[in-house]
Amino acid sequence: MRPAWSVLLLSGCAHAQAPRECPAGYMTDARASTELRDALRADPEGARLLEATAGRATFCFARGGPGVLTEGALLLDDAPADPRVVARAAHLLHHLARGERVTSGDPHSADERAASELEARLFARACQRSASPPAYCNQVPPP
Ligand SMILES: [Zn+2]
Repeated sequence: MRPAWSVLLLSGCAHAQAPRECPAGYMTDARASTELRDALRADPEGARLLEATAGRATFCFARGGPGVLTEGALLLDDAPADPRVVARAAHLLHHLARGERVTSGDPHSADERAASELEARLFARACQRSASPPAYCNQVPPP
């Protein structure tokens, strides 16, 4: 059998069975979504989050998108390969995987700290993987 293909096909079908619309002003861009999923899949934690949220996450893009979660839709900046966007998407998937449908907004909750630490790890690894890392990758992220 071909387990790798099976997983890809299954996650693709799961997503297709649960289409959600993006809020006004956002686009569901198939190419951008694929690019973002590929970037997440390249990261061990990102790949786990994609599996955990298969069929539940809708990626919505707009220039300057705030990086929040609303009703299962991830509202993201229109730059799916940007390490900041990849890391932020992982942060939001972390919430979605725990059944949260909107961004909590409480920066002091344990879950929010875990999500922020995850985001920092994803960011660092996305920068490392990038063939031409953006200048901000060289800046040390805040602790
Ligand atoms: Zn959060």
